[in-house]
Amino acid sequence: MKAPVKSSGSSSRVSSIATGRPAPRANERDDGLFAQLAEFHHEQVSLYADPAAGYRGIIAIHNTQLGPALGGTRVWNYESDEAALTDALRLARGMTYKAAVAGLNLGGGKSVIIGDNKLKDREPLFRAHGRHVESLGGRYITAEDVGTSTADMEFIRAETSHVTGLMGKSGDPSPVTAFGVYRGIKACAKHHYGSDSLAGKTVAIQGAGNVGYHLAELLYNEGAKLIVTDIDSGRVQRIVQEFKATAVAPDAIYGQQADIFAPCALGAIINDETIPQLKVEIVAGGANNVLAEERHGDELEAKGILYAPDYVINGGGLINVNAELHGWSLERAHNKAGEIYDTILRVFDIAREHRIPSYLAADRLAEQRIATVSRVRQNFV
Ligand code: NAD
Repeated sequence: MKAPVKSSGSSSRVSSIATGRPAPRANERDDGLFAQLAEFHHEQVSLYADPAAGYRGIIAIHNTQLGPALGGTRVWNYESDEAALTDALRLARGMTYKAAVAGLNLGGGKSVIIGDNKLKDREPLFRAHGRHVESLGGRYITAEDVGTSTADMEFIRAETSHVTGLMGKSGDPSPVTAFGVYRGIKACAKHHYGSDSLAGKTVAIQGAGNVGYHLAELLYNEGAKLIVTDIDSGRVQRIVQEFKATAVAPDAIYGQQADIFAPCALGAIINDETIPQLKVEIVAGGANNVLAEERHGDELEAKGILYAPDYVINGGGLINVNAELHGWSLERAHNKAGEIYDTILRVFDIAREHRIPSYLAADRLAEQRIATVSRVRQNFV
């Protein structure tokens, strides 16, 4: 089995981080568990079982050079243990890059629980997971992800303090995420048009959910013209009525005559079918895993379309979680998300300087920050 962690996923279009650690020994098996960890320099994988609680969990820690590994807990009916491990490794690695470019002192980690996420009696499962998290002594901090809720985090909290996203704390992250996306779109405009004003620009928004709605409001307030789609017509109508948007059918969003396309719904929507339809100059939105494959980032570049890498522009959600961890005010979280403007411009500068596509430039920026901070911290103080 070749380590399969190269598949694209949340923020995962990344190369391995140069950690300065020794390369795997030549005689190391290249098909074993440790080879799977070595391929992208994962630090640790922890397996924990509690049959009485129905718990089988994996915690993957990719990198803790910047701080404790943070990443959500996903509950999913994986088809095999190997698929669960692959997902945990891939998602943990993505978190390292997302935290690094967001300028946070956090590393990357993720946990997966193998099972049915519609389970009714959740306390035993999540308390067992809390004990698993606790056993890592703070090297890993968890939060919500697919298949988990704030109520589940409360069960985890009963067993460990290394959990965020609790009830009554930082709350819905989407306003902060949308603000970061809005700032990122302005940075794209600055880079592409020479001015970051969005007044009079047309933005096509895919997805009228939490992020899409708040983004539409910010864009409307700046004088942008909006086109919107969603499979939920009620959500579309809200944006049409409140922000004078034009509604289009879900499949029609790609071919709209607009300046900017803002994907805020699904992943993998920049692909072989959609790229030929695009008439925009900029792709920048809140969705995760926007590129179906890395080569689609190259194809956008070849078409002259500016792409804001997803894990850079949508980092506001992670910033919101970090704010809860450190007791930041909402205002401070917003200010930090606002810095996405400068980060996006730096990504484009790196891309220009090294003649590489923006999605690779984002990886470079993350790797540079990790390497720099690691160097600063190598002495004994
Ligand atoms: P959401 O569930 O509130 O909204 C998503 C919307 O997309 C829904 O209204 C849904 O009906 C719509 N949708 C689904 N399929 C569609 C299709 N084929 N065409 C058009 N619309 C479709 O989710 P959200 O919190 O707004 O998140 C949106 C995206 O942003 C997701 O990819 C998410 O992973 C990412 N993201 C969100 C946050 C956050 O803070 N919420 C942070 C980082 C990244």
